[in-house]
Amino acid sequence: DVNEAAMDQAEKEALLKKDRKYLWHHITPHNDNPMVIVSGEGSWITDADGNRYLDGMSGLWCVNVGHGRAEIAEAAAEQMKKIAYSTLIQSHVPAIELAAKLNEWLEGEYRIFFSNSGSDANEVAFKIARQYHHQRGKPSKHKFISRHRAYHGNSMGALGATGQAQRKLKYEPLGVGFTHVPPPYCYRCPFGMTKGECEVQCAQAYEDAIRWEGAESVAGIIVEPVITGGGMIVPPDEYLMRLREICDRHDVLLIVDEVICGFGRSGEKFGHHNFGVRPDIVTMAKGLTSAYSPLSATAVSAVMYESFKASGADSHFRHVNTFGGNPVSCAVALKNIEILEREQLVSRSAYIGNELLKRIDTLNGHPQVGEIRIFGSAIGIELVTDKTTKEPANAAVVSAIIGGCKQKGLLIGKNGDTVPGFMNILTLSPPLSATDEDIAFIADTLLQVFEANG
Ligand code: PLP
Repeated sequence: DVNEAAMDQAEKEALLKKDRKYLWHHITPHNDNPMVIVSGEGSWITDADGNRYLDGMSGLWCVNVGHGRAEIAEAAAEQMKKIAYSTLIQSHVPAIELAAKLNEWLEGEYRIFFSNSGSDANEVAFKIARQYHHQRGKPSKHKFISRHRAYHGNSMGALGATGQAQRKLKYEPLGVGFTHVPPPYCYRCPFGMTKGECEVQCAQAYEDAIRWEGAESVAGIIVEPVITGGGMIVPPDEYLMRLREICDRHDVLLIVDEVICGFGRSGEKFGHHNFGVRPDIVTMAKGLTSAYSPLSATAVSAVMYESFKASGADSHFRHVNTFGGNPVSCAVALKNIEILEREQLVSRSAYIGNELLKRIDTLNGHPQVGEIRIFGSAIGIELVTDKTTKEPANAAVVSAIIGGCKQKGLLIGKNGDTVPGFMNILTLSPPLSATDEDIAFIADTLLQVFEANG
């Protein structure tokens, strides 16, 4: 009931007054009237006016088990009562158990370094990669190759790895040593090829870049299995395997950023499982705790870890952060993974994606839909002005559809390469616990809103 859930209007106004005066919102122009979210249950969240919305993006692609899980709150409280803080200079029970559980999920042998955010996890990956090469007598290997459109985080190194100009321009110079190659964007192939009839030049571009930079200067390459925030760019099936081969040929580390794709979003446990490759380093955050508490991890192959043990007294990784691997966050992650397993949400994710795709299939005929792309339960709908020229849809069209969905109670996202005029890809990544009714609601709402904006 909307009225029952609504906050008293005077109370809400008082809150908004403080918001306007004191709070600095993330990555958004100043907004005097933000939605104030007060609660959530399953796929749904409620604002201060009592309006309910289906959280079609799981927050920022992160609330994989859905909102309002009391058993996660209880696991956190229990751990807090036992001990809320202990460093990882020593050890503690939830971190040990979680590191072991992550090895099971990764289906490989990895050492787990815990941090706080996806950005942190990538920074740690870069530092470990550089030190690893140092300790093998190859200190000149320091560069990383990433892709245009990629997003790897907001800190100076992770933003350096990011391939989106507008996110970087006012903050440069960033971490040095990052170069970028074109993404595997088949819909707008940067090499002018047609999907299925190419030689996967987008993978070859890495090898070319390694040669131009000089393999002796390249430490690693970093990729998301699928570029999510940069526009749901799904590579050809063989792409990631080709990157693995190129890395092996040039003694370059393969770092896979699973911050969004991991923990079931891809329809497998991790996105790299969809492509059958074994990375040297895997970074993860978001779905690790379903965002109930901040935590990230950098999983480093056991073989690499050995060089940190075996290279002498000064070979340990000189990196510490106060909150990384916080016992409460680790306890939350363990409970979150228990739920993912118990409710079989990884296979549910694949089901959700396929079901949504089936239900919105007719959108392919809409004059402004260029392409619909899917990876597990993450979906991108690329909007164009003209299907033949593929000219990107303008901001007004994108806003009309997002606004239309919101009016009907569905929150969806938009993405692209953040160059003005190119944020033309609508995104969906609902909780993996979404019910059949939720799926029907998302699809029906999209169909109605697209029809109204035909
Ligand atoms: N990597 C990817 C692929 C991401 O999408 C994000 C965040 O959206 C990050 C890294 C950075 O994570 P965080 O915001 O937790 O620092």
